[in-house]
This record gives sequence, structure tokens and C-alpha cells, in this order.
Amino acid sequence: MHEMGICDGILKSALEAAEAEGATRINHIDVTFGELTQIVEDALQFAFEVQRADTIAAEATLGITILEGRSRCMDCSAEFKHDRYEVKCPECGSYLCSLIQGRELRIDSIDVD
Ligand SMILES: [Zn+2]
Repeated sequence: MHEMGICDGILKSALEAAEAEGATRINHIDVTFGELTQIVEDALQFAFEVQRADTIAAEATLGITILEGRSRCMDCSAEFKHDRYEVKCPECGSYLCSLIQGRELRIDSIDVD
């Protein structure tokens, strides 16, 4: 379950940002990740609930946005979505594709008091 390590990173960044702002409490954290990171949403929520304890984010909620995997075909320029197992152009069958989105992992916003 690599979500524990990922969540640790998110929480650390959020706590650092909140501290830099002089915040006393984190209310909400919004994150976005791509499907191809293999993060499981429920596991990330669970990791967050465990790790937020005893921090200023103890009452915080986590908002998650998931981006599907998308690539562009280098042969015919078609854009298409795909899972992590096969990246193949549905228009022309080419495997020469360049990833547009799906590997993101970022904090979008942090709501603090
Ligand atoms: Zn194509």
C-alpha cells in the first residue's frame, strides 16, 4: 500500500505550508492525482485519516480529484484515454503515443485558519 508514503508526503507539504502561513489549523486539503499513479482513492483517504491524528490537520478533510490517463498519438495526433496496461491509439492502432495526463500528484489547495 504505497498510499501511506504518498499521504505522508502530502501531509508534510500541507503542514509546512500551513506553518509558513502561521495557521493554527488545517480544515481541508484538495489533491489531484492521475489514474496511472496507481493510487487507490479509498486507501489514500484511509492513510490520511490515520496520519492526520496529532497534527493541526487532525480535523481536516481530504478532497480528491482523479484524472484519467490520456495520451496523444504521434502518428495521427488523435487524443484518447487509456488505462495503465495498454497505450494504443484507437484511431490507427499505433503504439507511438505520448502521455498528456495521468501521472500527476499535486496539492491543489489548502484551507487553513
Ligand atoms: Zn493514431
